[in-house]
Amino acid sequence: MLNAKRQISKPLIKMVLFLVFGLLALEIFQQPTSALQKGVQTQKVVYLTFDDGPSPRYTPKVLDILRKEHVSATFFVLGFKAAQYPQLVRRIYHEGHELGNHGYYHTFIVNKSKQWVESDIRKTDVVVQAVCGVKPKYFRPPGGILSKADVGLVVKAGHSIAMWTVDTNDWKGLSAPVIVEAATQRVTANSVILMHDGLVTSQSTATALPVIIHKLRAKGYGFAVLPKQFQGPSLGGAPDSTNYRFKRS
Ligand SMILES: [Zn+2]
Repeated sequence: MLNAKRQISKPLIKMVLFLVFGLLALEIFQQPTSALQKGVQTQKVVYLTFDDGPSPRYTPKVLDILRKEHVSATFFVLGFKAAQYPQLVRRIYHEGHELGNHGYYHTFIVNKSKQWVESDIRKTDVVVQAVCGVKPKYFRPPGGILSKADVGLVVKAGHSIAMWTVDTNDWKGLSAPVIVEAATQRVTANSVILMHDGLVTSQSTATALPVIIHKLRAKGYGFAVLPKQFQGPSLGGAPDSTNYRFKRS
């Protein structure tokens, strides 16, 4: 009985072993491709961010390019413009991009009172929420300047602070090729790239954008909205002891 069992089970064991080793071999053979794909998606990501909009002139152009290229980005909108162009805020949101709060009138918040800062952030949140039903996850201070005390206020208002690591200086009226250069030369994995869709100079940004996307793709980068799981107080700029201060020149 025991022998019979052994005789029956041997071919079965062989078959199981064959299948297991076969699958393992297949897995090993496929590893390089899946690792590469995984790397592009999870390790070499950059974050495109657009500030000071929405603008009826340039935001639709930027959105058209992002849609055509299947790229997601984060838009730091101003409260008064969001109130003025609610359909653009909705379009940003419905096309899969992330919304950030960039203050109501782009007033620098440093040296403003606690009440003023809280009110400015809240007013912008309220507009965005009324327009598309979501509260912006991030706050980016106008000019990138805020005091250490402001950090606490922003976090208390339910936001992470999102700075940037690569400044294209597109607000200076640079030509598209110069913006492309700035956006692509010093990029590393997880770079947060600062651009603008709401300024008079944003035509050059829109012209540069497809080239920026193609160049970064050629370097192996993928694109994403700022991470939803991000929990820390600041992203894109290391806090120093007193002020976050990111000069633009
Ligand atoms: Zn700004």
